[in-house]
Amino acid sequence: MSDAVAGTPLIEQYEGVKARFPGHLVLFRVGDFYETFGDDAKLLARELEIVLTARSADASGERTPMAGVPHHAVESYLGRLVQKGYKVAICDQVEDARLAKGLVKREVTRVVTPGTVLEDRLLGGPDHNFLVSVGLGPDRRGAFAAVDVSTGEWLCGTASAPGVDALVTALAAFGPREVLLPPFDGNPNDAPLLATLRSEFRNARFETATQVALPDELPEALREAIGAAPSPLLAEVQGRLAAYVRVTQPRLLPFLEPAGEALGVRRLLLDAKTLRHLEIARPMNPDDPSGPTLLGAYDETRTAPGRRTLAFWLKHPLGEVDAIVARQDAVEALVARDAGLEALRSEMRPVADIARIATRLAGRRIRPPELAALASGLSAVERTRRRLLEPPPIGRLAELAAELGPIPGLGELLAAALPDEVPATIDAGPLFRRGFDPEVDRLRDAERAGRTSMERLEREAQEATGIRSLRVGFNQVFGYYLEVSRPNLARVPAHFRRKQTLANAERFTTDELSAVEASILAARDALGEREAERWEHFLTEIDAQVPAIHRLSRALGELDTLATFAHVAVDRGHVRPVVDESTSLQVRDGRHPVLDRTLARAFVPNDTELDGAGARLLILTGPNMSGKSTYMRQVGLFVVLAQAGAFVPAKFARVGLVSSLHTRMGFTDEIGRGKSSFMVEMSEVAEILRDADARSLVLLDEVGRGTSTFDGLALAWATLRHLHDRVRCRTILATHYHQLTELIERLDGARNAHLAVRESAGEVVFLHRLVPGSTDRSYGLHVAKLAGLPPELLQEAQRLLRQLEDQGVGLATRSNARSPMRYTQAVLLATDAPAARSELEQALDDLDTDHLTPMAALVWLAEQRRRLRAAGREP
Ligand code: ADP
Ligand code: MG
Repeated sequence: MSDAVAGTPLIEQYEGVKARFPGHLVLFRVGDFYETFGDDAKLLARELEIVLTARSADASGERTPMAGVPHHAVESYLGRLVQKGYKVAICDQVEDARLAKGLVKREVTRVVTPGTVLEDRLLGGPDHNFLVSVGLGPDRRGAFAAVDVSTGEWLCGTASAPGVDALVTALAAFGPREVLLPPFDGNPNDAPLLATLRSEFRNARFETATQVALPDELPEALREAIGAAPSPLLAEVQGRLAAYVRVTQPRLLPFLEPAGEALGVRRLLLDAKTLRHLEIARPMNPDDPSGPTLLGAYDETRTAPGRRTLAFWLKHPLGEVDAIVARQDAVEALVARDAGLEALRSEMRPVADIARIATRLAGRRIRPPELAALASGLSAVERTRRRLLEPPPIGRLAELAAELGPIPGLGELLAAALPDEVPATIDAGPLFRRGFDPEVDRLRDAERAGRTSMERLEREAQEATGIRSLRVGFNQVFGYYLEVSRPNLARVPAHFRRKQTLANAERFTTDELSAVEASILAARDALGEREAERWEHFLTEIDAQVPAIHRLSRALGELDTLATFAHVAVDRGHVRPVVDESTSLQVRDGRHPVLDRTLARAFVPNDTELDGAGARLLILTGPNMSGKSTYMRQVGLFVVLAQAGAFVPAKFARVGLVSSLHTRMGFTDEIGRGKSSFMVEMSEVAEILRDADARSLVLLDEVGRGTSTFDGLALAWATLRHLHDRVRCRTILATHYHQLTELIERLDGARNAHLAVRESAGEVVFLHRLVPGSTDRSYGLHVAKLAGLPPELLQEAQRLLRQLEDQGVGLATRSNARSPMRYTQAVLLATDAPAARSELEQALDDLDTDHLTPMAALVWLAEQRRRLRAAGREP
């Protein structure tokens, strides 16, 4: 922008605000519009698809681009801007334009950022809206703090391992809308942090935040939380988070509370990819945001806090048997209530999102009807609690009943204050119930008395003058008047003073009218003032209860979620899985929790039998479309559900606690994210191998597909050996490499299975039934035929296939496999050595510890050391 333009006072004022709010999109109130200028105007016009105009030319002929939105529609535009990840500063006129001398004074009255919004329409649903702050420690271990400003929850945690990936995993379930980063001090190791976070959390807004609040500057709850942080890094990330909230939502800082729920309890680690692959809260296909998900299939919650808790639990399952069993016990007790369960659930139905109402109250962005909703929500909570007490609950349900206890005085206060008909806004009618505030009542009576006098005055004037059409009226500019139509003007008495002339009438006032008018206006002003003052006082009284309302809402959310689990279990015939410290994973007649709903009775149930101590690795073969991916996801979802405390769709299930769940899906399944290179695939596998432990569950949907047959096969094999021999975790691999199925017969902890297909009269029927042993048919041509490829093309492919099979180019099938298979094995066995066990490992494995005497053990140890040393001396 040229100096000349910058020179105009309005633009100068705007630039001044922009300088004080760097990185913000400034919406600048001018008259009835919020305007932006210059580059911001171009940006706004593009993002909101509104017209870009220009200010009239200044002295030098320069025309500044300008774009604006009408003030009354600003909320909906704000919603779109926040959705797109902008941080917006609303700059309002803070003095009456009519009284201003020169330029109207303007100030930023509100900053709106994606991670700190409170309004329902900006939040876009009941799910959590997290703002997070991250950092990496000197040991490269990440830490984070997260806050949902709208519900008051404040959480923090440390990544399970050093490095950026583990930090991303720790954050995955939060799905942050806004991320605060520490300023980079030139450490080249930090650069990948931003890149990785950005690629993982694509909808989030990122900001480098320099300010870190010190504990002493903060309200009590946060001061304690930060003061007690177990590491300087955790104190720093929380301090940075607090500083940001202090700027964007200063009023809310005192109402944020470390939430007990997520602290301390160990969790099932689910990385961002796994959350996506299993379609837990969001469908994988980005073009179908309303596609089926686990959350969607289980969301029979009755309340917004319930929905929020359900989503959090499914994205954040537990990693401790005791905590899981406590939830399961509660679900089971609710199931046992039979009709009582639905009665309990229906009490919750009318509860509004009381946590967010409380926050908006604290932030003074509340409309009176929301307080009425709070009041009726609180009484519904109370009815729910009473239901919960019959029969007397035990365990977690008993604790919840206690946590749902009424907040002393709050319900009474709301009932006493709010009228039956609550006005839509604070200036649209009586705000308070009669009797709540004697002064308000007195002023309202005075105003009403004035209006009655006015009516009397009108009647008397009509009688005195004989003008039947004489009326008392009121307008903002002239106040009260007596209106006489033109034909009757002759009968107007002398003491009427002319006030205003219209085309067909004259308006008058009298001494008496002026006096009554003065008393009405005085009462009205005083009433408005008193009501506003009393309203603020009333809200301040409730402020003190905001954290209690937040806690109540959390307890309600938990009860609603447990009741939903119970409802789903009863409704869909789900069973309580046995969750224990074993490493087994057993399912009888398991159904995919989401597809089972959409396919209804057509879904074919399958068993699962994995055990870390025995058959821990399953190789799945079967043609395309036979159900391999579905089966693997089903197994993954069972673990998620079981560890979230839910029941599962099966006849029986046993889940030995899983510490982390890892998935890798074939590139066709990740196509939506443009990830298809072999390099990406390999780095994902590397990540899994690094992070998995003996308690993990690893689901690999096709490994080694992105490269030529042999090196892909070799890598797939080596990966399996590694998982089988070293990690020893439960693993399922779906593959088209039939060669693998023969190779794994050499591994004691591995099994083959395939999804059955029936061939009849040249047609292939997918049975979707899991059966032991491998299959070597891929029916690719059949699938191609189903997909509608032209017959000539299929015939040509058929001919080629026969030729290839005869030549044995590695696409071995059982029928013709002998020679290519031997060749394949030779290649693989040659590279087999490094993965094989060392002599020492073998000896250790052979050791019969059950019948070993201490003496024999010592002798054995000495012998092994001798061998090791001897081997070390060899050239
Ligand atoms: P693959 O991974 O073997 O190519 P998918 O798992 O993608 O096959 O399954 C293909 C389709 O088959 C699914 O979309 C689903 O409609 C159906 N399907 C899969 N498993 C089952 C099952 N157990 N019962 C019924 N239909 C199934
Ligand atoms: Mg598949």
